[in-house]
Amino acid sequence: MPEQNSISIPILPEKATPLPVLTGMTLEEMTAFMAGLDEPGYRARQLYAWIYARRADRFETMTSFGKELRARLHQSARLRSLQLLDTQTSEDGTIKFLWRTHDGYNIESVLIPSEARDDQDEPKRRTICISTQVGCPLDCKFCATASMRLKRSLSAGEIVEQFVGVEREAGERITNIVFMGMGEPMLNYDQVFRAVSIFTDPDNELAAARHITVSTSGLPEGIRRMADEGQRIKLAVSLHALTNGMRSELMPINRRYDIAQVMEAVEYYYRRTRQPVTYEYILFDGWNDTDADVRRLARITRRVPSKVNVIPFHEIEFTNPTGISARLRSTPREKFDLFIRKLRDAGVTVMVRSSSGEDIDAACGQLAIKHGATALHDPAGSIAAP
Ligand code: SF4
Repeated sequence: MPEQNSISIPILPEKATPLPVLTGMTLEEMTAFMAGLDEPGYRARQLYAWIYARRADRFETMTSFGKELRARLHQSARLRSLQLLDTQTSEDGTIKFLWRTHDGYNIESVLIPSEARDDQDEPKRRTICISTQVGCPLDCKFCATASMRLKRSLSAGEIVEQFVGVEREAGERITNIVFMGMGEPMLNYDQVFRAVSIFTDPDNELAAARHITVSTSGLPEGIRRMADEGQRIKLAVSLHALTNGMRSELMPINRRYDIAQVMEAVEYYYRRTRQPVTYEYILFDGWNDTDADVRRLARITRRVPSKVNVIPFHEIEFTNPTGISARLRSTPREKFDLFIRKLRDAGVTVMVRSSSGEDIDAACGQLAIKHGATALHDPAGSIAAP
């Protein structure tokens, strides 16, 4: 009699489990990892210090471990996962780093040297602009990254690795962090703030909370969550336009969360944290640089203690040259300076971001796109904005 319900189960080759990556692990996770190797808690604390505080990039340099433990670590884990593909150095000292992720995507980080306005007594400021996603789903019309759409979000480890990797390559300490590279950080909240907890662990000497800024296109949920969690890092909100019609044209996310909703979240944030807010404002010639814009910006910035970061627009070759993208131009220098003067006369605290790295592909996403952002992958379609 034939056997009833017999199912033939194919025997598949065992899939190799990728080794865990240590950078990005918290102390608790590293403790669990070391426990798996039958190593006590103090060894985990040593490993944690080697990776973050001492920036070790090879197990061989971890001299407080014997040869045998170093060999076992080597077999059981990887220290990092990003591979450096390319760098570009600007005449002004800005350096752009292109990384390849373990699954074949390209992401960027930018190291920006201290700006001229720093106090002479202050240590030199070195700011890293970190990516939080591969691509971005938000489709801002001035942004090269937008044309990649979203491939995936980065892990906390890949976020922290950008910092330690850039320090290693540049051979100098980074003092400030801005989450303003590829991607919308609030769409990757958990991993970004997990990375923040590693950056701000005083034992790691990576960066103080007051030197870290998360920059968002204005997602109210993330802004409120930062406030509710008492996050001490700084908040920057990209405005770029001050009427809903204009902002929706430039940043489609405004159709989902309009200026009023963004500002309600900003006010909530200020009420809970008492921390001032920075607004980012890219200046586009003849579009958002009129006297009416000065008045609107002055009005909006009075709502909570704040300052405005005015950013010159880099004309880039990767924006989709249709619709508004085709019309965006940078404001000429004289007109730019006049806009700043009028804003200051209106009582607004203004910072002017210099055009860092104008001679390299400094706009976020440009270098990754040039090198083929999806070297191994070409997943179809973007993920809809939230
Ligand atoms: S500007 Fe920022 S939020 Fe907008 S598409 Fe580019 S990466 Fe995304």
